[in-house]
Amino acid sequence: MITFALSKGRIFDETLPLLAAAGIVPSEDPERSRKLIIGTSRPDVRIVLVRATDVPTYVQHGGADLGVVGRDTLIEHGGQGLVQPLDLQIARCRMSVAVRSDFDYAAAVRRGSRLAVATKYTSCAREHFAAKGVHVDLIKLYGSMELAPLTGLADAIVDLVSTGNTLKANHLVEVEQILSISARLVVNRAALRLQHARLRSLIEQLEVAVQQRTQAAEPLRATLPAAP
Ligand code: AMP
Repeated sequence: MITFALSKGRIFDETLPLLAAAGIVPSEDPERSRKLIIGTSRPDVRIVLVRATDVPTYVQHGGADLGVVGRDTLIEHGGQGLVQPLDLQIARCRMSVAVRSDFDYAAAVRRGSRLAVATKYTSCAREHFAAKGVHVDLIKLYGSMELAPLTGLADAIVDLVSTGNTLKANHLVEVEQILSISARLVVNRAALRLQHARLRSLIEQLEVAVQQRTQAAEPLRATLPAAP
């Protein structure tokens, strides 16, 4: 039996077509069911539904053989015990620094001011500001980071940005991009040895599905005007 860890929402939705290309269709819709373990069209594959931040932990400790996790979550986890064979190129966004539109970030950095930075991504943020030589006090939050600069809790936030609409709606501006993010396939190291043939074949099927999806998007991209 192969156990696949997925989180509900964007990752689940965007992984579905890739799984379908590998002949794996969940037998239930997780948004309508309260079940945490769901079967699939392949009798040897089941899906466990876990929180996005718990996916690496489940796979690391063998609660699941493989899973799908955003690069942001993977970096924060540390990636110990995980093989990362594939960038699935889904759930794409960027990790950025944002501030209130009336806050002069460049001037604060030039002055060498100590900045209060609120984020869920403390490891990424610590590394980013240390590399820039900016002194920061990190404030760990678990959600609604956008609120922190508006209430005076922080000067800046480090958060994921996709369309930029959330920042705009809260009068925040993106001042630095830290990382480009997409979801990765992660595999338990021991499972890869013990179930080598089965897992290898599944990884290869997913790889082909990713390539086909990328190729299908190419002609569309070629017809779009070039980004500024
Ligand atoms: P947007 O308004 O499209 O820029 O989306 C920003 C909001 O969605 C923020 O609250 C982010 O934390 C969240 N978000 C954007 N992209 C992702 C992603 N790939 N994975 C998880 N959360 C995301």
